[in-house]
Amino acid sequence: MSAVLDLIWPRACEVCGRPADRPGRHVCSACLMRIPFIPTDGLCRVCGRAAEGFEGDYLCEDCSGKNRPFFDRAVSAVRFEDKAREMLLGFKFNQRLWLKDDFADWLEAAARAHFDLRAVDLILPMPLTVFHRVDRGYNQSAYLAEALAKRLDRACRGDVLKRKGHPGRQSELDESARRANVKDTFAVAKPELLRGRTLLVIDDVMTTGATLSECARELKAAGASRVWCLTLARSIRSL
Ligand SMILES: [Zn+2]
Ligand SMILES: [Zn+2]
Repeated sequence: MSAVLDLIWPRACEVCGRPADRPGRHVCSACLMRIPFIPTDGLCRVCGRAAEGFEGDYLCEDCSGKNRPFFDRAVSAVRFEDKAREMLLGFKFNQRLWLKDDFADWLEAAARAHFDLRAVDLILPMPLTVFHRVDRGYNQSAYLAEALAKRLDRACRGDVLKRKGHPGRQSELDESARRANVKDTFAVAKPELLRGRTLLVIDDVMTTGATLSECARELKAAGASRVWCLTLARSIRSL
């Protein structure tokens, strides 16, 4: 179907505007080479932060001490910058939802590189805050999680993890304020689905990891045995 549509109405590459040359995708093969993918090597095995000069994995200072996050591992596909940032913001705020297949490619590659996917029992999208749900009307992370779950042939549930309140805007706070700000904002609706399970939580952008950590704390309190996190992008602050 998309091949037929391509003949009638050729898709333009989101990055350069020339005709997109890959079926069903919105970034052409030349521009794909310039997307800022994060190398899969030399990352902290918990928070995914990169360290200069490391090969293989290591444990960063935060994750070996009392600041260790509650998730077991968090990784991301691309750096939140340049065209990747623009595309993601368009997807998140301007309903450019046709980008989900391109994004699912990026997520799938990162998921296969970092996780033993046979161990994943359930995929969960990061829920929107109440404030954003009213404001925007759709959850971009749910689109990403569902597209990925289809690729990996895993169950995806959007009704397990809930947001309780609506914290202030994370982007206006410093790191310790962010930690306090996300405290107790998650609730679990169906703990019986989580007990002893390995969960993969999907979100669009990781900034400091505080929200993902709080979410993992809640999922573990509900009985999950492992919480892995995968975000499409990662801001420079957590790289
Ligand atoms: Zn292009
Ligand atoms: Zn770390």
